[in-house]
Amino acid sequence: ICRPTGQIEDACCDYETVEKSLNTPKFFATLENLVKTNYFRFYKVDLYRDCPFWVENGLCMNRACTVEKASESEIPEEYRSTRLSSVHPAHKDEVVFPSSEEVASSSPSGTDTCQDTDFCYWAGEDLSSESVWVDLIKNPERFTGYAGPGANRVWKAIYEENCFGSVPKGSFLEPARAKGSGGGSGFVGREELLGGSSPAMGGFGGGLGGLIPSLAAPVDPAAEEQCLEKRVFYRVISGLHASISTHICHEYLNQTTGTWSPNLECFITRIAQHPERLQNVYFNYVLLVRALARAGDYLTTFNLKPGHGIPASEKGTIDLLQSLVGQASSCPPTFDEASLFKPSNPEAPQLKREFRDHFRNVSLIMDCVGCDKCRLWGKMQVNGLGTAMKILFSFDEEDFDPRKNPALLERSELVALINTLHRFAESLKAVETFRGMYQQGLRDK
Ligand code: FAD
Repeated sequence: ICRPTGQIEDACCDYETVEKSLNTPKFFATLENLVKTNYFRFYKVDLYRDCPFWVENGLCMNRACTVEKASESEIPEEYRSTRLSSVHPAHKDEVVFPSSEEVASSSPSGTDTCQDTDFCYWAGEDLSSESVWVDLIKNPERFTGYAGPGANRVWKAIYEENCFGSVPKGSFLEPARAKGSGGGSGFVGREELLGGSSPAMGGFGGGLGGLIPSLAAPVDPAAEEQCLEKRVFYRVISGLHASISTHICHEYLNQTTGTWSPNLECFITRIAQHPERLQNVYFNYVLLVRALARAGDYLTTFNLKPGHGIPASEKGTIDLLQSLVGQASSCPPTFDEASLFKPSNPEAPQLKREFRDHFRNVSLIMDCVGCDKCRLWGKMQVNGLGTAMKILFSFDEEDFDPRKNPALLERSELVALINTLHRFAESLKAVETFRGMYQQGLRDK
């Protein structure tokens, strides 16, 4: 529960700098005000795709798992149907993601595409007819009760994505990878994963748990001799996991009293006893801050193109974004994106493709989360982290020129980036609360 000190591994700043210069009340307040604005609180997402990897028919029946959808009338008109920006075609070779036949008959439709620069597979606001608008403020990420074999299976599949370069022996991904290895997408087909198992497997705290491979503690590549890129991949997913766990513990439902409050024991067991998990939360935080700073000027001129970005009428939102970007850019870079995929490394192009493909797979795995609320926040944060990676690894500095590239990102990517940064900032704030509770507990003894 101690505050970490010294250099944040694989980043280029220390914990003290983050605490003093970035994780400040001013930064947090700006971020908090920003996510409450209309532009940033409404997110359009497809919550009802089938899991493309296995039959997941476990449904979380808890009320806490339900997502309250926003009605069309609540959404400001300018966001409703316009594609507020589109990816600039000059930049990319369009990559069509696994077709419905490749995945499953009920999987994402053939309209779903992914650009070469994207680290996520997701439907833009105008792409999926199934997408719904959600008011993120009305659907807080917190304890829902989603747990058991279904949730474990999803985490296991996510950590398996960390094993790129080689398929782990005996991994349940092994047959699928072997088959898909020529395709270059790294995509794992569903039939192979099913392996003839019952459709009832997975699910919320039930199903045929015995059929599901048990979740061994994920191997932390940071502890092994691994290249920087693989360590970064692991840190990103472990940090996301730790951040989600922190929110669960911070807004925990006492099922006896029906009240929501921070649960210190939950935090100690899930996070504090594993200091590297908290370190990975900081790592994600500095990665996101760096992405914001790198694309900063570009993002704040987003409003220049009519119909794109933040409408000029929402001046308060623009001011807040400019203030946030200014604060994020006021420190030396917190993460050195140029240290990954170095041109001097002959394996860099392949490594980058694999990194991207595996993160895309993580974004697809989100459709296997059996609780709508968890799926919403899982998708949103994976999209936010994917957007950060796109900003850091897909473009050169000079690409962030609105005259040259008026639309590198879509509205939902910007919304996801800012909300994800807010989620991580909330986690660091929650950790402070837990530190205080712990100290208080010691004094009371
Ligand atoms: P889990 O959190 O399921 O972890 C499983 C195993 O992973 C652990 O035993 C440990 O070996 C390893 N592990 C845990 N944390 C880390 C880490 N940070 N780094 C590396 N390894 C780790 N539940 C909610 O109540 N609300 C939510 O909003 C919510 N959102 C979710 C979103 C997603 C995408 C997923 C997959 C699940 C979500 N859940 C949510 C479920 C929640 O994450 C847990 O799975 C659940 O609470 C059960 O926890 P657990 O103690 O069994 O361990």
